[in-house]
Amino acid sequence: MRDAFANFLRKKLHEEAKMPEKLALTRRQILRSSLALPFAAVSTGAEAAAFDTAPIYQRLGVKTYINAYGTLTTLTGTLMLPQVKQAMEEASQNFVMIHDLQAKVGKRLAEITGAEGAFVTAGASASLCLATCAVTTGGDAEKMDQLPHLDGPIEMKSEIIIQKIHRGSYDHAFRMVGVRLVEVETEEELRAAIGPKTAALAMVLSHNSLGHKVSLEKMIAIAHEADLPLILDAAAELPPVENLTKFVGMGADLVAFSGGKNLRGPQCSGLLLGKKELIEAAYANSAPHNHFARIAKVGKEEIVGLLRAVEVYANERDHKAEREEHHAMLERVRQRLEGLRTVVTEYATNDDYSHSPRLTVQWDESALGLKLDDVMTELRDGEPGIIATNMERYRPAWKGVGIFPYNLQPGEEMIVADRLREILGRRA
Ligand SMILES: *Cc1c(COP(=O)(O)O)cnc(C)c1O
Repeated sequence: MRDAFANFLRKKLHEEAKMPEKLALTRRQILRSSLALPFAAVSTGAEAAAFDTAPIYQRLGVKTYINAYGTLTTLTGTLMLPQVKQAMEEASQNFVMIHDLQAKVGKRLAEITGAEGAFVTAGASASLCLATCAVTTGGDAEKMDQLPHLDGPIEMKSEIIIQKIHRGSYDHAFRMVGVRLVEVETEEELRAAIGPKTAALAMVLSHNSLGHKVSLEKMIAIAHEADLPLILDAAAELPPVENLTKFVGMGADLVAFSGGKNLRGPQCSGLLLGKKELIEAAYANSAPHNHFARIAKVGKEEIVGLLRAVEVYANERDHKAEREEHHAMLERVRQRLEGLRTVVTEYATNDDYSHSPRLTVQWDESALGLKLDDVMTELRDGEPGIIATNMERYRPAWKGVGIFPYNLQPGEEMIVADRLREILGRRA
């Protein structure tokens, strides 16, 4: 239907170019006419006129937001770098053999990261799932076909040992392969938990799982003493840029990073880095092979886009300047909020680079008659909509509105600051 209409439109516009002016049927008129109905459903003339010029999210009736929260998947994660979009656009124009592309891109990724092997996955979660497929099946075709049943007819190792504090909603990625996660808290418990069913040790590095008792170094050492691989979820551990090479350098056997967070690659991409044999086994389980993780397919655009994002991250982005600009943004917000009654701001620079700097904004809720939840709602529902962090929900010991600058575009910090000043200043 669409194609037929597009052809009709093309023909009309072509005829129009040859027609005397007053007879010309303009594109607008065609869109307004009943012929446009299959397209624009029951739009009014005015809506139809706006149809082809309005920004896409407006056409779809989907609200856009300023992102003062961070690389949250629910909020679509990140904005791809221009270099990434250009690479994806270029990649989209030819057919290639996907195995050839993954192999060549994997080689480049391995060179950049110092890993023995690498490939592009459909996200860090897909990387963890594929890593689990690798440590259970080793890339054996019969075993791969048997997933997620690890207990027979062919028996496979079926346990992954993980520190209790690292358990979380992301560990579906391991469990979907059929493994049982064995929780431990101390080094002694960890050593005692290793047995004939152990397929791997797993570790999560994240701001949500701080406070573990067994360090990454120790986890790797214990895994290797037992001749087991260590799978590391480092999805959001960039920056610092050094982490691209650091974990592999420490000996972690399989390392997962998100492509759609601060790498600013495609939203639905991830990296899996690691030992050559394990990477080959993981890849054997993934699309385009018709095995367990065929569902986690990546296209040539994601493959090329993520490589470009990693290249830019490793070699072209000025991480120090980005950090300084993030600080400067938060400082401008802080200054703009000065002098409001009961309002205090608190600044966490996180200068070790491992986590985002942030500014929290707090006030006396009863003095101003303004609850945190109400401010969050006003920010979200205003024009433009602003998503900041409700720090109490995020981590109960924290307070107020949290502003994280990673995804703020130049100038947006002042829109956020002005809006906060307006809301908090109304009662102050
Ligand atoms: C974001 C995240 C994931 C999931 O990454 P995707 O690339 O969205 O699949 C997994 N683990 C942790 C710790 C994360 O922060």
